[in-house]
Amino acid sequence: TPSPVTVTVTGAAGQIGYALLFRIASGQLIGPDTPINLKLLEIPKAVTAAEGTAMELTDCAFPLLRSIDVTDDARRAFDGTNVALLVGARPRTQGMERGDLLEANGGIFKPQGEAINAGAAEDVRVLAVGNPANTNALITQAHAPDVPAERFTAMTRLDHNRALAQLAAKLDVGVNDIRKLAIWGNHSATQYPDLFHAEVGGKNAAEQVEQSWLADEFIPTVAKRGAAIIEARGASSAASAANAAIDHVHTWVNGTAEGDWTSAGVVSDGSYGVPEGLISSFPVTARDGRYEIVQGLDIDPFSRERIDASVAELTEERDTVRRLGYI
Ligand code: NDP
Repeated sequence: TPSPVTVTVTGAAGQIGYALLFRIASGQLIGPDTPINLKLLEIPKAVTAAEGTAMELTDCAFPLLRSIDVTDDARRAFDGTNVALLVGARPRTQGMERGDLLEANGGIFKPQGEAINAGAAEDVRVLAVGNPANTNALITQAHAPDVPAERFTAMTRLDHNRALAQLAAKLDVGVNDIRKLAIWGNHSATQYPDLFHAEVGGKNAAEQVEQSWLADEFIPTVAKRGAAIIEARGASSAASAANAAIDHVHTWVNGTAEGDWTSAGVVSDGSYGVPEGLISSFPVTARDGRYEIVQGLDIDPFSRERIDASVAELTEERDTVRRLGYI
């Protein structure tokens, strides 16, 4: 049997947490044989609700689930953690300015970064799901100087999966027929889903769709999908977000297929003109437990403009949290 993996989930009593925890405990996060120790972090008033979820997890009698620890203490929650899924965040409420949101989240992610730095396992991998995910990941990373920066990531896999599904429906193919799709930039409405390098049945994807569909339907549909789901469901996407978090970590640990890549928010090394140190989405491969930015792609002017706009937004978010003293 492989060694147990300790997984910390923050915001465990929330909607995404509820859709996520049972899948982790059933073995879908890492692999079907890896035992799991779960640590659930919540704010004090949600600890009882998280304990209720823990009772249900117990009642599933998952063979791989070794332990569940529920706490409101970040130090305890991240002690020895191998995989940290940062789901809990301060949601944007009506009338809230972007700066207020960044401020509230700075207060959450800074202590979590410190706790990860103090006690996480040597191989810790961190995924920020809670929004604004890229900048929350950046704040966390800034407060964990002893952990390699590459271990801090932000989730754009849901955007990637949404783009796969839209393209598959348009071309009437299976999602497995699509390769090399990419999401660039911020997990926000400015993100850029890129079809120019994507392949369907071995042929370029952008050449198989009308330019008008690409620009006026595909890109806005993917970028605004979250809002469309809130509109239809009366609640934000939770199961699909949880599914994407599972995919992100599973791929990180188990690798991408030969000849394919995926999308993730990772620390920029300056590739493609994205300022070094920003956590921005790129096409990435995973090998030997590391995400790496795909190098050497040609970026046409249409893509360039959109990548630059999303990266400018990330730069602004970084400057705001800098001004607020969070990084
Ligand atoms: P959800 O579980 O629905 O969402 C949690 C976070 O994930 C939100 O910031 C949300 O952003 C974000 N998110 C990222 N991608 C998506 C997506 N595609 N669709 C929907 N959400 C996405 O929120 P709940 O309010 O149900 O639960 C949050 C929980 O976190 C609460 O139980 C709260 O107590 C807890 N919390 C815990 C903290 C901690 O552990 N220290 C700190 C703060 C909160 P968006 O708001 O933009 O939808």
